[in-house]
Amino acid sequence: MSRTLNPFRKWPNLGSRTDRPIQPDADTLQARQQMVRQQLQVPDRGITNQRVLAAMEKVPRHEFTPKKVRAEAYDDTALPIGHGQTISQPFIVAFMTEQLQPQTGDRVLEIGTGSGYQAAILSELVREIYTIEIIDSLALRASADLKRLGYKNVHVQCGDGHAGWSEPGLFDSIIVTCAPVQVPPPLIAQLKEGGRMLIPVGPKHHQQINLLQKFNGELHQRAILPVRFVPLTRNEAD
Ligand code: SAH
Repeated sequence: MSRTLNPFRKWPNLGSRTDRPIQPDADTLQARQQMVRQQLQVPDRGITNQRVLAAMEKVPRHEFTPKKVRAEAYDDTALPIGHGQTISQPFIVAFMTEQLQPQTGDRVLEIGTGSGYQAAILSELVREIYTIEIIDSLALRASADLKRLGYKNVHVQCGDGHAGWSEPGLFDSIIVTCAPVQVPPPLIAQLKEGGRMLIPVGPKHHQQINLLQKFNGELHQRAILPVRFVPLTRNEAD
């Protein structure tokens, strides 16, 4: 796969984190267009949902990527974001988002805010996103980045996602971006009838993204893609 177009390699100061709202510039847009064409629309990956593809083209992934690895922001890979955590590979973000079948009126719960990038993608596609991050400093940084970039419909909470969102309510869909060995029951309880949950499940090197659906109170679950995610952890005090 060619990676000829990477504006950051030529102009390393482009796209640095600043306090002013970012101006989407032609160079980063081209890098995202190339990412969409070469990483998402290729036959063995086949992301076809036009709204998802448009969101992937629009959201500035480099703004959610630490300076040290920003030159690789549009590469076909997960990247470190500090604290041993990662921003997921663009294809995985697009795949899980497409599988959620996001509708404009949806309220979506995300477990594992990380950089906030997945939440920003969803922000373009649904009404409200509620996202939980267990590491305080990541939650704070993601929340500040999302605010700075103008994503107003994302609510970030710092806490343990095993328990789901702190206030009662049901979600149209749930996306989990860290892997438990088993699906936490409170998340199943917070999923609406007919709702979809995308969740990587399994031990460290044998995870599969599972699609869970609730019909007539009954749970349907199937594995759809082998993956490698960071684990869903617990607070040590718990
Ligand atoms: N969606 C993220 C990917 C983050 S990686 C992005 O777009 O960047 C997964 C994240 O899950 C990590 O930041 C990790 O700290 C967090 N995490 C792990 N266990 C968790 C838990 N029990 N509750 C909430 N977040 C958790």
